[in-house]
Amino acid sequence: MSQSHSGPAQKTNKPVTDTSLRWIDIHVHLNMLKSDAEAALATAAAQGVTRVITIGTEPKDHPLVLDWAARRFPQVACTLGVHPHEATLWSEQVRQFIFDNRQAKGLVAVGEIGLDYYYNNSPQDVQIAAFREQLELAEELGLPVQIHTRDADADTAKILREFRGRVRGLLHCFTSSAELAREALDCGFDLSFSGVVTFKNAQALRDVVRSVPLDRLHVETDAPFLAPVPMRGKGNVPEFVLHTAQAVAEIKSVSLAELSRQTVANASRLFSRLDG
Ligand SMILES: [Zn+2]
Ligand SMILES: [Zn+2]
Repeated sequence: MSQSHSGPAQKTNKPVTDTSLRWIDIHVHLNMLKSDAEAALATAAAQGVTRVITIGTEPKDHPLVLDWAARRFPQVACTLGVHPHEATLWSEQVRQFIFDNRQAKGLVAVGEIGLDYYYNNSPQDVQIAAFREQLELAEELGLPVQIHTRDADADTAKILREFRGRVRGLLHCFTSSAELAREALDCGFDLSFSGVVTFKNAQALRDVVRSVPLDRLHVETDAPFLAPVPMRGKGNVPEFVLHTAQAVAEIKSVSLAELSRQTVANASRLFSRLDG
């Protein structure tokens, strides 16, 4: 599809039709989809979404995501980590499980880890400790990280600075301030954008997208959450990453082909085991 217009992303509801381009959904919760994961993966692959990274968020999910990435689905890679919501579940045993599986086929990152002071499902000091210890584990394993941060800009920036040059990774489903975006980029972390960039009220976020260098950005669905416009209200699935990609391409004034090439290269570079 040619990219001749550069209007606001929310005005573009036409379907994405070029299925020859390749996409990687770098952040999806396959085990939480409202539809069958295998069918969703097949539909996504037909749309060019040839790789997805499914996220381990709590210890009880870790064996499943490992199995899906290592054995069940060739299209799937995975991360292992403890989400800030579940930070109270982070433990030495969980650390040991991830360490013991460090060579597992399909494991490409530690995550998702981070801070969420919007929900505060775990106490903030527990979130901070779990975040730091998982960053240390990622450093030890030489793995990149996927970071979740919400309403925790100051503490996130402080911890990113501590790990500058020690750990690489990305801030997934980035919806924070332009200031945190600059800080993260400066600390060597990439930014990943979800369907939120298509939301009508997300102009500040689109301004952040505009400011991020093309070689530092990623696209994701965070499915089953946050379905993009025009799929709002439906269960999100990996194929919808194309709607986010279309919005990002328009914001960046690049063709979909260029964004496809660049985001695949970015993901392959950051998640170096993705192609292995
Ligand atoms: Zn998240
Ligand atoms: Zn997530």
